Amino acid sequence: MAEVKDLFQSADWKTEKHMPVIETAGKVKKGEMVSATISVGKEIPHPNTTAHHIRWIEVYFLPIGEKFPSQLGRFEFNAHGESAQGADTSTIFTHPQAIVKFKSDKSGAFLAASYCNIHGLWQSAAQITVE
Ligand code: FE
Repeated sequence: MAEVKDLFQSADWKTEKHMPVIETAGKVKKGEMVSATISVGKEIPHPNTTAHHIRWIEVYFLPIGEKFPSQLGRFEFNAHGESAQGADTSTIFTHPQAIVKFKSDKSGAFLAASYCNIHGLWQSAAQITVE
């Protein structure tokens, strides 16, 4: 039987439009805020229509040596061209991009997950080094 963890896909973000792209300095001094921008479709734009769009992005931080992650944020993208006139009749679209700031005393993995309403769950990760 399939498990939730089996549903996450991963690929090169330069050729796969669903991959969450993490942009961050990657190295920070203890006590300083780490800033990361997460977006989907950076290289190849993902469709943004009522029928096909990126619904959400979630981000986590897993300190080295720990078992459980901290959820840093969840970002919902809820406008995809719909209006009272029907699907794809509005000019209003949210773009799947989020900025998160956080601090940690420990280095670890910055983990991002995204969900396309048609093509499912995608994941990516970046190393954050705290000096
Ligand atoms: Fe898709």
